[in-house]
Amino acid sequence: MKQKFQQFMTGRYGVDQLSRLLLGISVVFCVLSLFSRWNLFYLLALALLGYTYYRMFSRNVSKRYAENQKFLNARYRLAVKRDQQKRQFAQRKEYRFYRCPGCRQKVRVPRGKGRISISCPKCRTEFIKKS
Ligand SMILES: [Zn+2]
Repeated sequence: MKQKFQQFMTGRYGVDQLSRLLLGISVVFCVLSLFSRWNLFYLLALALLGYTYYRMFSRNVSKRYAENQKFLNARYRLAVKRDQQKRQFAQRKEYRFYRCPGCRQKVRVPRGKGRISISCPKCRTEFIKKS
């Protein structure tokens, strides 16, 4: 039985981080469907489950790998952004944060210096803000 399954899975993609997340979401939808009268959650759970199995048994390994890579990149960017926001929140009493009108670069300036001219460290655009 185990050998048969292994034989079936050779050349197929298998489980990755994206399918684990999709499985988790479909379990959440399943639980939600128990407490709600809508069949929508149940349908969504089934659809996600179907898609996850489709990915696991897919023979197009490179495409599935690329999808997972995309997902991992997005997750990483989200984590970096969350870290940045945390840091900015922790420094909110000593610093003000502005975006450069020229290049959208985030600029940090000390608070309580009155109106100051800020020059962007990236593109050298100058703009005047209250600090
Ligand atoms: Zn700039």
